[in-house]
Amino acid sequence: MPIATVNPATGETVRTFEPMGAEAVERCLDDAVRAFAAYRTTGFAERAELLLRAADLLEADNEDIARTMTEEMGKPLAAARAEAAKCVKAMRWYAANAESLLADEVPDPADVRDSGAASVRTRYRPLGVVLAVMPWNFPLWQVMRFAAPALMAGNTGLLKHASNVPQTALYLDGLFERAGYPRGCFQTLLIGSGGVEAVLRDPRVAAATLTGSEPAGRAVAAAAGDEVKKTVLELGGSDPFVVMPSADLERAVRTAVTARVQNNGQSCIAAKRFIVHADVYDGFAERFRAAMAALSVGDPMLEGTDVGPLATEKGRADLEELVDDAVAAGAEVLCGGRRPPGLERGWYYEPTVLAGITPGMRIDQEETFGPVATLYRVADLDEAVERANHTPFGLSSNVWTRSEEDVDRFVRDLEAGGIYVNGMTASHPALPFGGVKRSGYGRELSGHGIREFCNVTTVWQA
Ligand code: NDP
Repeated sequence: MPIATVNPATGETVRTFEPMGAEAVERCLDDAVRAFAAYRTTGFAERAELLLRAADLLEADNEDIARTMTEEMGKPLAAARAEAAKCVKAMRWYAANAESLLADEVPDPADVRDSGAASVRTRYRPLGVVLAVMPWNFPLWQVMRFAAPALMAGNTGLLKHASNVPQTALYLDGLFERAGYPRGCFQTLLIGSGGVEAVLRDPRVAAATLTGSEPAGRAVAAAAGDEVKKTVLELGGSDPFVVMPSADLERAVRTAVTARVQNNGQSCIAAKRFIVHADVYDGFAERFRAAMAALSVGDPMLEGTDVGPLATEKGRADLEELVDDAVAAGAEVLCGGRRPPGLERGWYYEPTVLAGITPGMRIDQEETFGPVATLYRVADLDEAVERANHTPFGLSSNVWTRSEEDVDRFVRDLEAGGIYVNGMTASHPALPFGGVKRSGYGRELSGHGIREFCNVTTVWQA
């Protein structure tokens, strides 16, 4: 894939970039490891000052960088502004909290009396240069939720961003430089995916994090495993959205629409499978269909657009294939199921609701990365749990009910890294984020996220 900005709203190539050559990559690796040697010895106050300066710069740049993101990957402009603001919030949160999240831990003296030590503590030390392989769907946020904690922990970062968001990738490189970070602390490598393995295997790189598809995750984890390097993987999701009879149906429908079409439907934590109890199925299905059909699809730069184009032509083709396969096998199209008439330029797809999904259909087991929802009717709580778990993924989940008994059952049995009750999944700096099963492993954000790229060191003193 060429490294280029191609506007998904028009299909036009806006700018192309030459990938970095071997020498330039080599220089970045050297700079990263040299920077780490000094940066790791800085204190939290100094690191916080740098990150806060970067946060202020990003806040001031909000409109410009939001427009760049929309031009590169097609999310509605309001969502792009919100994404940049969310990054600022996370940067400030980690600047304020990293020191306490990484404070030395001292065990209960009674537990370690027989260890022979006069004092024992656990120190969280930085790991080194961390490679971040990142996707285009939240081109700022996915990077910042890695970079803010990693830098506060004393690591340095190398970003290999998705090839279709090079301007956002270069903006990030410049942001940290303008904030005054020492050269080498955070750098963008303009390389294609074929160049990742060599960087990952380089002895100067200590660990890697990847957000993206399962094949990309598998490739990075395999090479890292071979090198015995730590990885965090945040892969796809096919989150269930379960509606039980006691749910507030109006709110559930409104949230269901947002949860499905946020970011033009291209979010790992978007609700994708709508699993509805038979007692409320018909009412939910009709309202959901009507609300999805009423969304405005169009130019993401225009205020009032709910759903923009898909980020890439291939992304739309993949989505169309999944829908066509389901329809050929008997799925019922309640709305959408086609490209919107009148929007021939650009990679648009109508918000779509499909019912009558059966086990042989690909869409039953694969992730729909676009504004396509599948509806399932279930008879009771047991079937709802079983259906929710009937997926290779396990990122997050949404359940709608007023019954505490239902909640207890979902919390005990749903195979997911998050369970959101009467609301939609949203990441937050102070809450752990990540999945189980094919959605990956490790956690981002919160104290769990910042400790992923630390050397958890036992300090035993006689
Ligand atoms: P990819 O997983 O291909 O891209 C994500 C990142 O990984 C990019 O930086 C990409 O680089 C890189 N990459 C891809 N293949 C490899 C590899 N073999 N080794 C190392 N790095 C690699 O996502 P796509 O953009 O192709 O999207 C495909 C599907 O992935 C989506 O339809 C969706 O299902 C899922 N996805 C999930 C995301 C999430 O948030 N969990 C985000 C994005 C995608 P390059 O761009 O140069 O290829």
